Amino acid sequence: MRIEDDSKLDYKDVLIRPKRSTLGSRKEVDLFRDFSFRNYQGEESGSHYRGIPIMASNMDGVGTFEMADALAQLGLFTSLVKSYEAEALIEFFSKDDPNRLQNVAYSTGITQQDLEKFKAVYQAPGVRLKYVCVDVANGYSERFSAFIKQLRDAYPAIVIIAGNVVTGEMTEELILSGADIVKVGIGPGSVCTTRMQTGVGFPQLSAVIECADSAHGLGGHIIADGGCTCPGDLSKAFAAGADFVMLGGMFAGHDEGGGEVITRYFRNGEVNRTTNGWEDVVEERKFVQFYGMSSEAANEKHFGGLKEYRSSEGREILVPYRGEIAKTIQDLLGGIRSTCTYAGAKKLKWLSKCTTFVKTGEQFNPIFSEN
Ligand code: 5GP
Repeated sequence: MRIEDDSKLDYKDVLIRPKRSTLGSRKEVDLFRDFSFRNYQGEESGSHYRGIPIMASNMDGVGTFEMADALAQLGLFTSLVKSYEAEALIEFFSKDDPNRLQNVAYSTGITQQDLEKFKAVYQAPGVRLKYVCVDVANGYSERFSAFIKQLRDAYPAIVIIAGNVVTGEMTEELILSGADIVKVGIGPGSVCTTRMQTGVGFPQLSAVIECADSAHGLGGHIIADGGCTCPGDLSKAFAAGADFVMLGGMFAGHDEGGGEVITRYFRNGEVNRTTNGWEDVVEERKFVQFYGMSSEAANEKHFGGLKEYRSSEGREILVPYRGEIAKTIQDLLGGIRSTCTYAGAKKLKWLSKCTTFVKTGEQFNPIFSEN
């Protein structure tokens, strides 16, 4: 047994120090990023990514076709849920739509069945598919790196996103195995219970700093996945070196996620499902169900229940219903632009170079907005 003594940090443990800046207005801040990918070997023209590097996670109620189209219009990215049938994916990726090609990833696991489904979609006539997100809870298995190698060899003209890991050496291993973008985060998710259930994890800000350093040294990229609860957390992730930030909970509860809108009634701190017997209802609020993809709810929905050797590593919660995603995006991007003006970064690309983090000592704990 060993103990690492140096402190590791989460988003809530730091703030960004304000600096003198020549920026006149938030309008001047450029949030678009341009990347080309290390291991992609397709056409030269196809290697380029340009967009606002914020991603919707491949979670139920978040990574839907509707979300992908809405976000792509705004320059943002979506990883689709794994559960779409091959036919639906073929139809989606056959549409001659540059937004879908440039801003949407197919998500997959690593079973033989997953591989066969991917092959069927990729090879279907008319399909144009550039990004594939290979997503497992624990990216540390040999089988996972072997799968990435196999995928890279078989499909040189795709951009491979692979995760999740939280340390530099495994980021390097995945990039050297053929991944272009490594997804970073074990345990920080809003509906994740891995830290409670297993005791495993890594504070997310430090994981992002460590993995970004390793990836950038090899010409790779990273996604900070999970743990963002407010626009300031995204700014901290970018400032720590993340090339992309992936969101689940902050994108849940919107029309594009497709969940059923549920009403709850509130009276003097009590909550009820109906107004029966409650003549003096004080407040009515709307919610949408949201759950982790390893939760019992997700296992029930997609696999008919939890296998007997597994335990759930996700929670099920109600999140406030928030209407159309476009309004949330405006608020989010406004926050990040403002960070850039405080830090003196005219481009999101420069935010990391312009940032000095200050440790807050006592934890800075933002309250998640409920509107
Ligand atoms: P959030 O933005 O909600 O904080 O985090 C989203 C991320 O949490 C997802 O992109 C995914 O990596 C992770 N996640 C989603 N569902 C589960 C789950 O059931 N268990 C765990 N451990 N992580 C999850």
